[in-house]
Amino acid sequence: MEKDEAPSKDELRRELEKLIAREQYLRRGLRDAMQAGSRITDLWEKAFFRELLIPAAEVVASTRLDILGLKSLLASSGVKSPRGIEKLDVESAKQVPIALLLDTKVQRSGKYQVALCPLHNEKTPSFTIYPDNHYWCFGCQQGGDSIELIRRLYDFNFVEAVGFLLTYKT
Ligand SMILES: [Zn+2]
Repeated sequence: MEKDEAPSKDELRRELEKLIAREQYLRRGLRDAMQAGSRITDLWEKAFFRELLIPAAEVVASTRLDILGLKSLLASSGVKSPRGIEKLDVESAKQVPIALLLDTKVQRSGKYQVALCPLHNEKTPSFTIYPDNHYWCFGCQQGGDSIELIRRLYDFNFVEAVGFLLTYKT
């Protein structure tokens, strides 16, 4: 494929299918690893194991982001702005810091931020925010960007979530 040639919808869809399969594979691996980790009884070993899992979860989360990106690309190709939002709006919405969207206290942990997950009940924080503003929750095994979080939190569709997030931008 020529570099300056836009990929066709079919190509995008095939790429999307591949990514979804990859995400499922990665999620299974992460879940197995977490199950193995839950059998560790030594507290220090447990903490160390968890540290190891953070970058692994980041790979899963970024695959999720690629999927979301491809989906919005697919939605926006074809008819011009079929759902009434522009690419620029989506980009601004994604930039709204996830930490800002949480009611719970956000703590810094190295280059990450952690908080109690707004999507499930928990007593110890497993909701991790990565420096490039996406999240992964080790409790509910879900991740995504600010748009994805708002969709889950308020049961909004994509356009509603973008509109909601834009209200955070001045
Ligand atoms: Zn959670």
